[in-house]
Amino acid sequence: METQLLIGSKETPAGGGKTFDRLNPVTGELATRAAAASIEDAKLAADAAAIAFPAWAEMGPGARRTLLNKAADAVQAKVAEFTSAMMEETGSSAPWAGFNVMLAAGMLREAAAMTTQITGEVIPSDKPGTLALAVRQPAGVVLGIAPWNAPVILGVRAVAMPLACGNTVVLKASELCPRVHCLIGQAFRDAGFPDGVVNVVTNSVPDAAAIVEALIDHPAVKRINFTGSTRVGRIIAQHAARHLKPVLLELGGKAPLLVLEDADLDEAVKAAAFGAFMNQGQICMSTERIIVVEAVADAFVAKLAEKASRLVAGDPREGKTPLGAVVDHRAIETVGKLIDDALAKGAKRVAGKDGSGVIMSACVIDRVTPGMKLYSEESFGPVVAVVRAKNEADAVRIANDTEYGLSAAVFSRDIARALKVAKQIQSGMCHINGSTVHDEAQMPFGGVKASGYGRFGGKAAIAEFTDLRWITIETEPGHFPI
Ligand code: NAD
Repeated sequence: METQLLIGSKETPAGGGKTFDRLNPVTGELATRAAAASIEDAKLAADAAAIAFPAWAEMGPGARRTLLNKAADAVQAKVAEFTSAMMEETGSSAPWAGFNVMLAAGMLREAAAMTTQITGEVIPSDKPGTLALAVRQPAGVVLGIAPWNAPVILGVRAVAMPLACGNTVVLKASELCPRVHCLIGQAFRDAGFPDGVVNVVTNSVPDAAAIVEALIDHPAVKRINFTGSTRVGRIIAQHAARHLKPVLLELGGKAPLLVLEDADLDEAVKAAAFGAFMNQGQICMSTERIIVVEAVADAFVAKLAEKASRLVAGDPREGKTPLGAVVDHRAIETVGKLIDDALAKGAKRVAGKDGSGVIMSACVIDRVTPGMKLYSEESFGPVVAVVRAKNEADAVRIANDTEYGLSAAVFSRDIARALKVAKQIQSGMCHINGSTVHDEAQMPFGGVKASGYGRFGGKAAIAEFTDLRWITIETEPGHFPI
């Protein structure tokens, strides 16, 4: 299947007709031949968004809301296309694709509802007869950069609230799922968005840095949001800083799930298994470390190992197994190296075995300690580390012993105690008696530390994608000292 760039609502080949191929990770066959944008193409996309900006920014909230709701319908109408594109490009399972479409449509409906919530303030002024207003205005062109792992959700998230706030957008697709991200652009076009409001750029891997730089450099681009690795997030933030352009960064994670001695172990096992292995552990909020207090560790690990042994991976096209494939061979190699390092340093494998190709079933590694790479490095695959803690204080210390801080979870039957623990964990999000993997369109989503800064979701996103301006109206003759 071939895909083109979406510039000014027109599907266009890349300048020079350059393309790149995304292969199906399971079969090795061609999944998508996508247009490989040149720097000139990237600039044209930002130009198209700049031309569309004034009219879109002026459009009333009701009209913008209608279009965003239509985009939600259009995304849902493409569920079959999204599912086959996700399976072919990223090896994900059909249920994961279906969930992606459902949450992405929900994000568009939430963004639609927010169009009438972009409010300001009347602030008492010390100057007689003066009305002082704080008003929010659209910023301009917003560049959204999305990854492959939850590609419909994260592609839509990169543009939904920016659009609701009156900005126009350029979505820079992931090289691993160009067709999924192009389908998002097509859904906006099908919904009747005006020309140039939504633009999609696809690029080959070697061109990524230059394309992203050109888009950040473009004078019309006023905000950048990036969802991806901490390594690339740092590069993007540094480049944007040269122009003093604000960035919203949603980066990697190493989410801890704490199991205290008074936890309901069966509930903790269910949440831990889901959080660690949904989408083969390739979610930024994936449970990467289960920190369990020693008193209940043996009982918990036995139950988790039993549950994990049933989380078998297989060809996602057959749909017979709870887990599908990972995104490429390198993912299995990375996870394999982390496991080997841990086992060589004394950890114990209690469930799973080595992966083969892009297929790997759920793997649980017990007795992980700080000297092991699995303790600190994001695995982004179907493995979870169990770290044993002496007591509650030790569990909190271990939870915070990481550069990351995206999501976390605490299991305890004593809610007051769990809340006290949750407040001590350095993370953007923490769920008591729930999974670390939890996202809802209206919630403030984001991290601290090396997991990034800024918040997508609901009202928090309004601050990210608008300029707050102070405007006064003076109604009495002025008194000036000179
Ligand atoms: P990645 O950082 O490798 O790639 C993301 C994007 O960066 C791609 O579009 C690529 O074109 C671009 N890029 C690559 N090199 C670049 C460079 N030198 N300069 C500018 N841009 C460049 O991430 P990925 O592999 O696509 O995604 C996986 C990572 O994303 C994981 O770390 C995961 O935790 C994180 N993630 C975070 C969230 C969140 O909401 N916090 C959500 C999903 C994934």
